Amino acid sequence: CGIIAARVADDATPYLLDGLERLEYRGYDSAGIAVRTSTGGTETIRSVSRVGDLRTLVAARSGDPFTGTGIGHTRWATHGAVRETNAHPHADCSGRISVVHNGIIENADRLREQLSAQGHVFASEVDSEVITHLVERALAVDPDLMLAVQIATAQLEGSWAIVVLDARDGRMVAAADRSPLVVARAARGDFVASDIGAIATWAETFVALRDGDVVELGESWTWSSRGEVVAVPFATPSPFAAE
Ligand code: GLU
Repeated sequence: CGIIAARVADDATPYLLDGLERLEYRGYDSAGIAVRTSTGGTETIRSVSRVGDLRTLVAARSGDPFTGTGIGHTRWATHGAVRETNAHPHADCSGRISVVHNGIIENADRLREQLSAQGHVFASEVDSEVITHLVERALAVDPDLMLAVQIATAQLEGSWAIVVLDARDGRMVAAADRSPLVVARAARGDFVASDIGAIATWAETFVALRDGDVVELGESWTWSSRGEVVAVPFATPSPFAAE
């Protein structure tokens, strides 16, 4: 239903929560965020109530400090009941990969059967969770996240706008097909959103993904579009500290 992602120099959570609040008007049944922590893990906080309640949960936590890299989602359930374990972000078996997804994966049942037979354990009933396991499976062969997302999405049928976060190194990759997604480089950092209204306070210019596009948001962006991969150079470097 709604996606926001941020890669900023300070704590990502205020950006994610503000963005989710701006997406609230579209309606949703649950909301969640996954943010990379200073110790190199990801903390996921989800709620089946309003973004305001998610904000309270975030304010009450006392874990490792959050970094500037995170993803957020408001869900409009298509597969799986409305409950916290079905809310996004979803994770792979190891908890390394977190994914938010808008849309419907039509071949999710078949992929789930195949992945389960290969030992992947599913934590939810949601079609979107297959994406996390497909990325995990691809990463076991080649450690490049951008390539893993390309391999994973090539196996999907349906519609998707996704953002994939790797807790290990904070890499973030966005991809879309038949579902809207924009990316922006702004003074405060890089942003991804399903609706420009979610990030318009921080970003003045946007680029919309075309069907099949996969983009890695780093110091520069690596953009794969219709079989071509290009590095997107920027006049202004990202304020996000390189790792
Ligand atoms: N199909 C996914 C689900 O049921 C995503 C729905 C959405 O776009 O919010 O959770």
